[in-house]
Amino acid sequence: MTQLPNKLTLEACDARDDTVRFPTSDESPPEQLIRVVDPATGYSWGFVVVDNTRRGPGLGGIRMAPDLTLWEVRRLARAMTLKNSAANLPFGGGKAGIVCDPEEMARNPGLKRDLIGLFAEALFSVEQYIPAPDMGTNETDIQQIYEYFSERLGTGQHMRGGAARPPENGGIPIDEWGLTAHGLFAAVHSVEELESDFKVKDTRVIIQGFGNVGSETASKLSEVGALITGVSDIHGALWHPAGLNVAELNAIRREPGGIFHYSGKVEKRFGPDQIDWLLEAPCDILIPAARTDALTSRNADRIQCRKIFQGANAPSNKMTEYYLHNRRSIVSYSDFIVNVGGVIGCAVELKMTMDPSYRDRVLAQGENGKTYTDQLIYNTVFNNVRTLIERLNGQSNGDVIFREEALKLALERLDRPEEIWL
Ligand code: NAD
Repeated sequence: MTQLPNKLTLEACDARDDTVRFPTSDESPPEQLIRVVDPATGYSWGFVVVDNTRRGPGLGGIRMAPDLTLWEVRRLARAMTLKNSAANLPFGGGKAGIVCDPEEMARNPGLKRDLIGLFAEALFSVEQYIPAPDMGTNETDIQQIYEYFSERLGTGQHMRGGAARPPENGGIPIDEWGLTAHGLFAAVHSVEELESDFKVKDTRVIIQGFGNVGSETASKLSEVGALITGVSDIHGALWHPAGLNVAELNAIRREPGGIFHYSGKVEKRFGPDQIDWLLEAPCDILIPAARTDALTSRNADRIQCRKIFQGANAPSNKMTEYYLHNRRSIVSYSDFIVNVGGVIGCAVELKMTMDPSYRDRVLAQGENGKTYTDQLIYNTVFNNVRTLIERLNGQSNGDVIFREEALKLALERLDRPEEIWL
């Protein structure tokens, strides 16, 4: 079993990257780049990156993965700056990571608690970072950090200890309410409203990653008449051109073997070694909702969809999207515009914690705040997608891709921190 250190301390890293010779405005160095180390051995147990605080403290999740690197945390922190800025939230971008095996931690809750405790102690001095859950961490971990901070701050009313805490402690259940899926749903509707040849009803949808984001997105789209023709999880992939039964997929997704034990009709069933083949199946909408880099130059030639809505963070990259757009007429709607539902939920929770009158207003709209939060997410994503499509349509240079225009929008809003939609 992993041996934990006695203590974790912070070590500042040089934020300049000498490999970037002529940095552009979107490559400005992060404000804080920190290693979380065992002072006895110098071993790096994790990282904290505060990318940009022009809009407010850096809000972003804590990822737990055995192969996590400072570079990955830095890239994710940057994505949070863009997400929070594009959504006009009063937060900047930040991210943290712990280098360890989340499965080992899930098997040993005591060990995980001790590790989170050490991490919380170290995080306390990073005043400009606000944690949230990410892959490998959950609402209980955030509550633990929050309580540690409450003790140190002498108050239970603060933002520093994190967001997406358990509902019984005043948190918003991001995944249970399907908030990120709701944003993706709004993005699809926005495109439908602006493009006369695109209709959600009967549209064929493939979803990579049938987890919290993927399964809720499937439910929402199938409720309005879309056909979910393909889904995958870590165990396998299923494809049927006439559509899969979403209710059954939802019922089995958390069972051992996941969606692979689906009993309905399928035309193709791929095992774990072939799950990526699903990405190449013909469809209208492809939703990557699993890992980073699902779509790259490796498979860009074989993708057969019309539109890609990026549920996952960084499921592709600018080069691939440029190629897909300009050579294959496939538009990719960027992660930091369409998958912001979760972070908007976090922002609502933080504001409710700090501002009792806002809290009353949110709760007055019903369903413990879900009605208000859903509406804010829907309006934010719907309007941002519409604005970006209109801007792209108005350009004489047809080469510009959605991501480039989205980046411009996020950077413009970074310069106007007083504009807040919360
Ligand atoms: P999750 O852990 O609930 O689900 C992930 C799913 O992907 C699981 O079903 C897993 O089996 C599957 N998977 C993993 N690797 C795969 C692969 N190679 N091929 C196919 N399936 C694979 O996670 P989630 O909360 O649904 O998040 C999914 C993605 O969306 C992540 O990239 C996450 O960072 C991003 N995201 C999530 C939220 C949120 O609110 N949960 C918000 C923004 C972005």
